[in-house]
Amino acid sequence: MATHLGTSPFQETEDQQALRALARDVAQRELLPWARHWDETEAFPQRSFEALGKSDLLGITIDAAYGGAGFGDIESAIVLEELGRVDVSSAILAQLIFNGPPRAIQHLGSEAMKQKWLPMAAAGEALFCIGISETEAGSAVNHMRAKLSEDGDGFRLNAYKNYVTGGHKSRCCLVWCRFPGSEPGSTKGIGAVIVDLESPGVVIAGTHVKMGLRGTSEAEMAFDDVRIERDDVLLWGDPANSESFKTLIAHINHERCGNAAMCVGAAQGALEYVVGYMNERKIGNKTLADLQGLQWKIADMATQLEGARLLLLRAVHMAGEGGTPPALETAMAKTAANLAAKFVCDEAIQLLGGYGFSREYPIERVYRDIRGLCIGAGTVEVQKNFVGKNVLDGAKPASHGWR
Ligand SMILES: Cc1cc2nc3c(=O)[nH]c(=O)nc-3n(C[C@H](O)[C@H](O)[C@H](O)COP(=O)(O)OP(=O)(O)OC[C@H]3O[C@@H](n4cnc5c(N)ncnc54)[C@H](O)[C@@H]3O)c2cc1C
Repeated sequence: MATHLGTSPFQETEDQQALRALARDVAQRELLPWARHWDETEAFPQRSFEALGKSDLLGITIDAAYGGAGFGDIESAIVLEELGRVDVSSAILAQLIFNGPPRAIQHLGSEAMKQKWLPMAAAGEALFCIGISETEAGSAVNHMRAKLSEDGDGFRLNAYKNYVTGGHKSRCCLVWCRFPGSEPGSTKGIGAVIVDLESPGVVIAGTHVKMGLRGTSEAEMAFDDVRIERDDVLLWGDPANSESFKTLIAHINHERCGNAAMCVGAAQGALEYVVGYMNERKIGNKTLADLQGLQWKIADMATQLEGARLLLLRAVHMAGEGGTPPALETAMAKTAANLAAKFVCDEAIQLLGGYGFSREYPIERVYRDIRGLCIGAGTVEVQKNFVGKNVLDGAKPASHGWR
């Protein structure tokens, strides 16, 4: 009987394949040769940002009306996977544009706000950042203190945001804050404003010195009585309910899928590197690839990675055109991708032996980079809290039946 091989339900369209080829080409030519440099020097990868802008990759998720290509989460994941495969520090810059403030402005902002910011984002003329976390409000975001107060026909923002990726190089920040009447400890009345970082009162208090993602630093940012116009309000926080907070949290699912895509790409790059190495490296008259015990490691690495990739594909396909990836499937994808990347990179270091531990070989850098992705955009533990609670409450994640 003839065996029928079906196609993957996630088969890429011709346009998506072309986008992947473009992203891979730009990554290989423009990002890869500099990846070690950004890590060693901790210099901001401005060159990568410009290369991504010139190749028209930065605008892919922005509507055509504002100069972009109007793609969604699938295409965002394709590009972030390819960029993450060679340099996560540079990929994060694209993540900030694809799944950061510009995406939120596109979905939630007024027409005036879109006209002001989206063409700039699509053209790669400015970087955008997100200010949610505070020193005492990371996972427990309900403890945030950032506060908006009435000031005539507008507002004043007072906030201290911690760990803002690219904040020191950005022109625009999406800031989550309490609206008038909102009480600390509650999610009621939390909304968001868009801040022009050239405004008086914005201060970059410092940048973090980190283990990985050393090119794209995280900033501490003070907002001292910064004037906010009514037009700068992205989402009004009503102190009587948590509706705006829920909308903002749901929107983070774009960022979580982007985070997972970078992890899948980084792990893919590490796996490919170690496969090449094992086919070359001789132990006596055998290569490492000949040793069955090590073949099993490769099998485990490839299987975990593929599982994470499939979960990610499911989440981004479920977003549909112009939608948002669903929360449960996204939390599973992010968890699986974070853990797969950690496992694959750790095993890859082991398989390279002493060279895996050397800074002259790329794997230890990738390992340090993806470590930060297991914390940013909601930690693995917070994702697991969400998944566990939902499954215990009877939630059933969609399987292929959703199609
Ligand atoms: C690389 C990187 C980039 C980032 N970029 C940004 C950014 O651009 N903008 C921004 O606003 N923030 C950003 N962050 C901050 C990030 O969102 C927070 O670090 C994260 O939410 C965790 O908060 P925390 O650091 O305060 O840790 P805590 O919340 O103090 O958590 C400490 C530990 O306890 C665990 N934990 C906490 N609560 C629970 C719970 N209820 N159950 C089980 N375990 C729990 C956590 O998982 C973690 O392991 C970034 C962080 C990193 C590492």
